[in-house]
Amino acid sequence: MSERVRVEPSALAGSATALSVDGDRGHHLVRVTRVRVGDRVVAFDGAGRERPAEVSRVGRGEVLLSWTGPAASGVGADRARVRWIQGLPKGDKMDLIVRQATELGVASIAPVFTARSIPREQPERWAPRLQRWERIAEEASRQCGRADVPAIEAPQSLAALCAAPAGHVVRLTAWEGATASLRAAIEASAEGLPFEVLAGPEGGFETAEVEAAAAAGFAPVSLGPRILRAETTAAAFLSALSVLRGDLGGSGAMMR
Ligand code: SAH
Repeated sequence: MSERVRVEPSALAGSATALSVDGDRGHHLVRVTRVRVGDRVVAFDGAGRERPAEVSRVGRGEVLLSWTGPAASGVGADRARVRWIQGLPKGDKMDLIVRQATELGVASIAPVFTARSIPREQPERWAPRLQRWERIAEEASRQCGRADVPAIEAPQSLAALCAAPAGHVVRLTAWEGATASLRAAIEASAEGLPFEVLAGPEGGFETAEVEAAAAAGFAPVSLGPRILRAETTAAAFLSALSVLRGDLGGSGAMMR
């Protein structure tokens, strides 16, 4: 597989025949990937488009790419179109959730503070973590061959999230206490709508939170009789949803 590098959207268009990549991304290509003249590289713009190129010069922390074909749309989010709303877990668990959710094709990720979230709500202190998650999402997109990068929303409280008006979407809460299965809830929902899925931190939701979310349209669904860790929940839920309504469903060919 070709190396991939993120570039600015404007760099893919235009009439230039070559593009210089420097800064962190150039450094990565030179020092980590160790590209050589003649290697094939795909430049992607983080918004869904990509363009094939060949390395025509390697400098100190700088690589010159020459386009070998036109820009086209690349692999993007799963067709289930999921906004993954994650109750903030402690430590670096969110890093793994962002990485796996990106690989599994979420359209966006919304971190929320819940009653049992360990990290306390201090929005001004969140900028560095938000930037870290954005970097992880970009890196995961690069590695898994997505041409887009899922948006990471600024952290907000669960109450604020529930108070915001809902669009035309299917809203679900992953809750171990739910009687409805994920499959039953999906089969009862209209086809073709995007999803908003709310999942709890490692301490879970308080019942009042599940009720408040239900009042805002988030139907509680179960992933089975075993209690999953927060990071397992994201992987299991997104995989199951992709089978039921996304890229893993149906019988169409999946070859790239
Ligand atoms: N409250 C629980 C565990 C929370 S697990 C306890 O401490 O015993 C973290 C999150 O994963 C939950 O908030 C829920 O969103 C999700 N989750 C875990 N197991 C689940 C299951 N079987 N079905 C649906 N969601 C589940």
